[in-house]
Amino acid sequence: MALERTLSIIKPDAVQKNAIGAILSRFENTGLQVVAARMLQLSAEDAGGFYAVHKQRPFYGELCAFMSSGPVLVSVLEGENAIAKNRDLMGATNPKDAAPGTIRADFAESIDANAVHGSDSAETAAWEISYFFSQRELCPRS
Ligand code: ADP
Ligand code: MG
Repeated sequence: MALERTLSIIKPDAVQKNAIGAILSRFENTGLQVVAARMLQLSAEDAGGFYAVHKQRPFYGELCAFMSSGPVLVSVLEGENAIAKNRDLMGATNPKDAAPGTIRADFAESIDANAVHGSDSAETAAWEISYFFSQRELCPRS
């Protein structure tokens, strides 16, 4: 097992539902530590840059509009296998397919308003963390 960091975003729908604490608790209860966090409202350009990998997808415009529609909570989670652990906690992209007890099953409305983002690989985690945080904003415990 490897100590990893992953980028999490609590999306505008979940922030609007007052679910920030409930979602962060799920991370902490699984042994992940929040080592950086910031609340902000993304511009459409911020969202577009973050999701540039999806630029050619038909849902890209809607995704960027949604992600900039209200405040989000971006954080860096650290722990053993943090990337896969966070993806397991999140559940499937479409909440209709998300396993019971996952964040998306419990908090998401639809495939576009699906409560959370999580990095999907070590490479994307490193890039996504650096998109929002400088090295000195990361506060590991040890
Ligand atoms: P994930 O967030 O699970 O990693 P993707 O990276 O495939 O999923 O997609 C990024 C985001 O784009 C999703 O979380 C979702 O908000 C949105 N999205 C993905 N597929 C669709 C779709 N078919 N229609 C609308 N939005 C979508
Ligand atoms: Mg993804």
